Amino acid sequence: KIIMGIESSCDETGVGLVRLHDDGAVELLADEVASSVDQHARFGGVVPEIASRAHMEAMVPTADRAFEKAGLKLSDVDAIAVTAGPGLSGALLVGVSAAKAYAAALGVPLYGVNHLAGHIAVDTLQHGPLPTPCLGLLVSGGHTQLLRIDDIASSITELGSTVDDAAGEAYDKVARVLGLPYPGGPPIDKAAKEGDPKAIAFPRGMTGPRDAKFDFSFSGLKTAVARWIEAAERRGDDIPVNDVAASFQEAVADVLTAKAVKAAKELGIDTMVISGGVAANSRLSGLAAERCEAAGITLRVPRPRLCTDNGAMIAALGAHVVAAGRPPSSLDLSANPALPVSVVSF
Ligand code: ATP
Ligand code: MG
Ligand code: FE
Repeated sequence: KIIMGIESSCDETGVGLVRLHDDGAVELLADEVASSVDQHARFGGVVPEIASRAHMEAMVPTADRAFEKAGLKLSDVDAIAVTAGPGLSGALLVGVSAAKAYAAALGVPLYGVNHLAGHIAVDTLQHGPLPTPCLGLLVSGGHTQLLRIDDIASSITELGSTVDDAAGEAYDKVARVLGLPYPGGPPIDKAAKEGDPKAIAFPRGMTGPRDAKFDFSFSGLKTAVARWIEAAERRGDDIPVNDVAASFQEAVADVLTAKAVKAAKELGIDTMVISGGVAANSRLSGLAAERCEAAGITLRVPRPRLCTDNGAMIAALGAHVVAAGRPPSSLDLSANPALPVSVVSF
């Protein structure tokens, strides 16, 4: 079966095509992404109206490119999966409307699926079926969550999440105070390679004995970095950008990996998947690999291209939902900007 996946929850228009084999294996055939990130850069964050308009312009050309790359025709499609939430409401609406149009025109079932579950499901394209239960650490621009996955198609439980900023948001805000471009993840990752992670002892949020064990907090860290820079400026010092980047990055990677490994141990889970845009971070995956190995946990991190938003992740999740025999959505499916991760499809 051929499953088409459509993603438009934020600033990436993604169309993915996968083949669902009879044994349940899911094979990646095409993954085309058009991003409006450059149009948002000067605002330092995603502007919803600009994102929606860009999705409108990019949707059909991106889909056409995906079919061309896969060597498939529209009539080859057996089912359509679309991100139905969470995300920006106008942006989601463009994808959901397009998906309905394709589904109606082709006479194939439509599946509204969860973007966050898609970030985890994408790993099966690279590493094969997910052993369950497994622990998911989802770290993206809008979310930071620890998840227990019992079935990627139907059963995901949130164990904890950030109480304030998402990890990616902290990257973006720290990049701004360091004078680095938006989005901040990649330039901080690069600057950190030249810096000393031990140069500055930034706080590790929510790691005290009385803090909820599986929740995260990054707003204190972000403020600490801003204060540190202000103080250095007041003294007239040059800002050691590489050291600040490395020390900030170390604090984020330390907290994320320590909590995830602790959760896996406590729950007796031996497989961990880290995904979402921040999973593209080299120090996060490096430290996670060290700590998982020491704890006897198998770590799976999709390649960076699959970690950030794309259509293949939605096609992959759609394939698992189809394989599990879940019911399709009705053609009056509407997007839910605040969809909880526990609702995998609806
Ligand atoms: P969500 O999935 O929560 O709706 P989103 O889809 O906008 O949010 P993603 O596209 O998954 O988020 O991730 C974008 C985030 O990933 C940005 O905050 C960006 O700075 C961060 N990011 C990308 N590459 C890296 C990197 N190498 N290191 C750290 N962060 C990174
Ligand atoms: Mg994005
Ligand atoms: Fe995302």
